[in-house]
Amino acid sequence: MAIMNIKKFFIQTFGCQMNVYDSERVGYLLEGEGYERAEAPEEADLIFLNTCSVREKPAQKVYSALGRFQGLKERNPRLLIGVGGCVAQQEGEGLLERFSYVDFVLGTKELPRLKGILKDLEGSGKRQTAIGLEGRVDPYALLPSYSPRSKACSFVSIMQGCDNYCTYCVVPFVRGREVSRPSRDILEEIRSLASCGVKEVTLLGQNVNSYGQKPGGEIGFVQLLEAVEAISGIERIRFTTSHPKDLSGDLAGAFGRLSRLCEHIHLPLQSGSDRILRRMNRGYTREEYWEKVQALRRNCPDISITADLMVGFPGEAEEDFAATVKMIERVQFDEFFSFKYSDRPQTRARLFADKVSEDVSQRRLEEIQTLQKKITRQRNKRWEGREVEVLVEGRSKTNAEESAGRTRTRHLVNFSGKYDPDGALVKLKITKALAHSLIGEALPRGETPS
Ligand code: SAM
Ligand code: SF4
Repeated sequence: MAIMNIKKFFIQTFGCQMNVYDSERVGYLLEGEGYERAEAPEEADLIFLNTCSVREKPAQKVYSALGRFQGLKERNPRLLIGVGGCVAQQEGEGLLERFSYVDFVLGTKELPRLKGILKDLEGSGKRQTAIGLEGRVDPYALLPSYSPRSKACSFVSIMQGCDNYCTYCVVPFVRGREVSRPSRDILEEIRSLASCGVKEVTLLGQNVNSYGQKPGGEIGFVQLLEAVEAISGIERIRFTTSHPKDLSGDLAGAFGRLSRLCEHIHLPLQSGSDRILRRMNRGYTREEYWEKVQALRRNCPDISITADLMVGFPGEAEEDFAATVKMIERVQFDEFFSFKYSDRPQTRARLFADKVSEDVSQRRLEEIQTLQKKITRQRNKRWEGREVEVLVEGRSKTNAEESAGRTRTRHLVNFSGKYDPDGALVKLKITKALAHSLIGEALPRGETPS
């Protein structure tokens, strides 16, 4: 009979890995409160949208999703709908005014208050908002400890917020000042993940290279990596995102020195034009970026380098764009994410007058994407015939008879055989390189499929 009373929750996550991590923690908090996970929003008693406002498009997606959930609320008035994350932080009470069916709004640092908010909602039925940003240093210290659902890999937040104020970016306004999590908490969390069988951790922050230089952290980023390397059971360490201006020679050296540090770095370039980089307030020139790339490749010749790039930033002339194209050709990224600039609230760039038209931005975006497609294909080719270690993450998305996993360089590999459970480390030979993935076959000494 009690089963009838069990409540279910559904979380929809938008945006970056940080939000994925936050959603996981919220899920554990709700499970601790007796909720179960719903397979679909239609089954849920509580829907939580963890939102992203970094670009206009993801922010719009949040509003469309809210529109879809309105119908569910009409059919089930007891359904609770909450909005968290960056859009919640940005819009606050405004969301309650605009969407009469939203029950609560929870800012980026207020996740631990979810329990109290649900209680207050139950008690008073009064809609709630909590969007304090600066008071709470480490919300994760107040969220239930993490017990991963995937054996393969897990995210671990090492810092909050950002102090860089790139002129296009909303993050400092919605995630607050940069604060490092105490290293003992991070290491404790990673030890507990390792004891659950997790093999790979990705350390998360908006600018992990400055870990420890801001309030909260007592050791530097490379020291933190060394401490993670010493945790038994963790076979692979990744991190994201690195800011090029703070990438030290010591960190480049760590790629050659730390055996568990995977040979991949995500190093957002944004633009190849010094003039635009200055206007973006990025704090490096294209030459300085290139020197860092060379230092990384000197220390770790096989390292794969990915990036974020933006086109159509205000004032981006044809020669600025040509400089970006040149940098793409010079660096030979393994892959990149590319975006058209969009105005974001509170940022300085939204006030820049010389906006680039949608048509021009679209053309530039397509041009760099076409160029990179060719480069990625060529870069992937270098893996053909080589032996690699792959961490199995589950079934292949394209063929249920195949498994999928990632190399240390973060290339996706599909290969025959089913490996259960996920989290197996297997040796494969790469037989073919495709545009976005590799195909592999098991080596005799690799683990055998189940
Ligand atoms: N902290 C990271 C960094 O320094 O690069 C990434 C932050 S942001 C969450 C992820 C990416 O979104 C950025 O690297 C940038 O390329 C893109 N982005 C941020 N603001 C944008 C805007 N206003 N318009 C278009 N793209 C944007
Ligand atoms: Fe945004 Fe720049 Fe901070 Fe990255 S470093 S989060 S782009 S302000």
